[in-house]
Formats: sequence, C-alpha cells, structure tokens
Amino acid sequence: MSDANERAGARRPTPRGATGAGASVAVDDRGAARLRAGHPWVYRSDVVAPPERAGFARIVDRRGAPLGWAAVHPSSTIAVRLLSRDDAPIDEATLVATLDAALDRREAWKDDPAAAMAGVTGYRLVHAEADGLPGLVVDRLGPVVVVQNGCAALEPHLTALVGRLAERTAPRGILGRFEGRARALEGLEQGTPVLHGDVPDEVDVSDGTLTWRVKPFAGQKTGAFLDQRVNHHLFGRFARGAPGAPRGRGLDVFSYHGGFGLHLLAAGYAEVELVDASADALAAASDAARRNGLPAPRVTQADAFAYLRARARERGRFDAISVDPPALAKRARDLPRATAGYKELNLRAMRLLAPGGVLATSSCSAHLSEFAFLDVLTDAAADAGRAFRVLGRYGPSPDHPERLGFPESRYLKCVMLQALDG
Ligand code: SAH
Repeated sequence: MSDANERAGARRPTPRGATGAGASVAVDDRGAARLRAGHPWVYRSDVVAPPERAGFARIVDRRGAPLGWAAVHPSSTIAVRLLSRDDAPIDEATLVATLDAALDRREAWKDDPAAAMAGVTGYRLVHAEADGLPGLVVDRLGPVVVVQNGCAALEPHLTALVGRLAERTAPRGILGRFEGRARALEGLEQGTPVLHGDVPDEVDVSDGTLTWRVKPFAGQKTGAFLDQRVNHHLFGRFARGAPGAPRGRGLDVFSYHGGFGLHLLAAGYAEVELVDASADALAAASDAARRNGLPAPRVTQADAFAYLRARARERGRFDAISVDPPALAKRARDLPRATAGYKELNLRAMRLLAPGGVLATSSCSAHLSEFAFLDVLTDAAADAGRAFRVLGRYGPSPDHPERLGFPESRYLKCVMLQALDG
C-alpha cells in the first residue's frame, strides 16, 4: 500500500462492507483530474495500487485528498467507478436510496411532454452511472422488469435492489440478463435467472402508439432497444409532416423490430422495407405490423452494407430512410475504421433518398462524438453531391439520462436530415 493510502486510511475508520485493506484507493494525477472533470471512471493504469478485492472504497488523490466513494475492482480495466463525490461510505441503504431516486425521476418524466411517456410501457428505469448505479441497467418491458449488471461491487446487493424494484414497480416478474463481456471482465457468472415472480417468454410492450411482442430472455440487449423510442415517433412525424416531404416508400436499415419503419407505415407510407441481419428481429417486426393493423413491411435478412451496395443504382428511390447500425466503434482505436463505415452507410443512404426525403441517421458509438458524427455526415453529403437541412439532432430518450463529462452516457446520436435537392 502506498503512503497516500495509509495516510488516507488512518484518517477515517474502515466502514463495514467496504473492500478492506484500509478501504482507500489512491489514484494518480491523471485519474484524479478525470474524476474532478466529471468522468466517473478511472482505468487500472491510473490507480496507484489496485484494490485487493471488489467492493466499495474511498477514493483519494496522491496527497490523500478525498475524491468520493466508488465501486472498485482489482483486475477489471475500469478499476474505479465513482458513485458519489461525497466523503461518506456507500452501504446498502445508500444504494437503495439511489435506486429510489432513479425511479422517482421516471415517475416525474411521465408528465414531461418531451419524454412522450403517455401510454409507454417500455422504458429504462436505471441507466447505470448516469443514475448513480455503475454498470446497472434496469428496463421495464410491459409486465416485467429486466436487470443487467456489469459491476462486481453491486452484485452482493442485487437481492436488496431487486426487492426494492419489486416493491416499487410491482411487476409480474424480474429477470436477470447476466451475460456478456462486461460481466466476464468483472469475474461475474453468466446466466438468465428469474429473480422475482415469473417471467413469460413473450411480453407486450407499447411505445405509446404501437405495440411489440418482445422476448425478455432471448431478444437483443434486454429484449428491446428502448433508447430510440422518442426518435421513432419523431421520424414518423417528420416523414409525414415536413413541408415538401413526399410520402410513399420507406427504408429501415438495421431495423431490429422496425421501430423506425413501422412508424412510417403508421404515418401512411404505402411501402416500407426493413433490413436486418437477424431473422428473429424481422419476424417480430412483421408480427408487430400485423398486430397494429399496419400494411405488411417487406423484410430482408441481409448484411446491411452488402444490401445498400447492391441497391446503389436506385437513386432517389426512398422518401424516408433510417440507418441505425450497432456501435461500429466499440473501442477508441476502432474509430478510423468505424468512421469509414458510417460514411459508407450514410453516403449510400443519401443517394437512395428522394428530393425532400427524410433521413434519420444514428450512431450509438460512445467514442464518436456528436460533432465527429456531423463531420462524417457532412463528408458523406459532399460525396453524394446532396444538400440537407438538419431537422433536428437528438439523443437517447429522456429515460436514458446523461451525465455531464461522461460521453458514454450520451452514446446515441440521431440526426434527422431532409434532402434539399435531387
Ligand atoms: N433500429 C433499431 C435498433 C437497431 S440495433 C431500433 O430503432 O430499435 C442494430 C441492429 O442491427 C440489430 O437489430 C442487429 O441485428 C442488426 N445488425 C447488426 N449487424 C448487422 C449487419 N451487418 N447487417 C444488418 N443488420 C445488422
């Protein structure tokens, strides 16, 4: 242990439930600067000595000055995830109170017109760090609640948190989707346990206008992509209502359940094509069209890059297009290749757009800033020889809050453009 750790440890007795070993973790100057700038993470390379085990710890700088309390991990790439800048220990009661505050915020948003929450039964209840609970995602999917956790320090407290969720949200059941790389990195087990009540294989989820049948055990992410909910509605409205916008053929590339495309059908589009690599996702989209009394979309299971390349000759064919790929830059070092990917997708989509047509183009790569994404779009438009008006620039729905100084919480960008020329 470093001198700084010993000094900081001596100043305050070790609270119960902390990681032990003095329960203080010292971070170097770079780590301290990052925390002070609002980012909640410190990487392993920026801690003076790694903590002995996963848990909650007091964080100090090299001089022993307190920086707050964090979830810490001995071997994960992210060694420190700050929960609070207060110099007060984190215990289970603090975690439950933090969950309560997150749930209270969702209640408040129900009345916020920008959140468009009327009749919505699928939305995020806890958005990890941005709600003060690192690595914890909780989604409401109609009658059930789905929990994902990628933070080892929180794991022993899940029983208490799930108990509180059950009390506050009264779901039919609560499911743990305990899968993926984040858990593996923290040494956590994989599995999909039912944590409370019972969880059916399929549940109905409404976005306030349309209803989908969603699979909590098997669907991607927690079963649905809830972050684009408000953008789906806006796309339908722009595609119908932007003055001069034609209304006929729509294309939803990387459609998943067709959130963008089905809102075109609901807006009166006659023909909508959905493209996705997942046959299950497309089947759910077709099923949802039927259930909502919409015309059947044409669905194509394909690699979206190959699909757009194959249709390169059909300039001006579509009046509204959505392009919403999975994160092409999962790590910062992927950025150059990802940028080329975003440019290709957008260039091709822009060429396929009719004059006056509307393009909803999204990026969910946290490493690509909104401004860098706008640069990519500007480049793509220049190469496509097209001019566009920006109808609006959006992020994830408001039930996915953002933390200032933490771009990972504003990972999703959705830019709506209207073609000004042919
Ligand atoms: N647009 C959806 C969310 C899309 S998520 C919505 O608004 O809800 C990204 C989707 O891309 C997933 O459905 C995934 O199956 C699909 N996908 C991933 N790689 C793909 C590829 N190379 N070609 C086509 N689809 C792909």
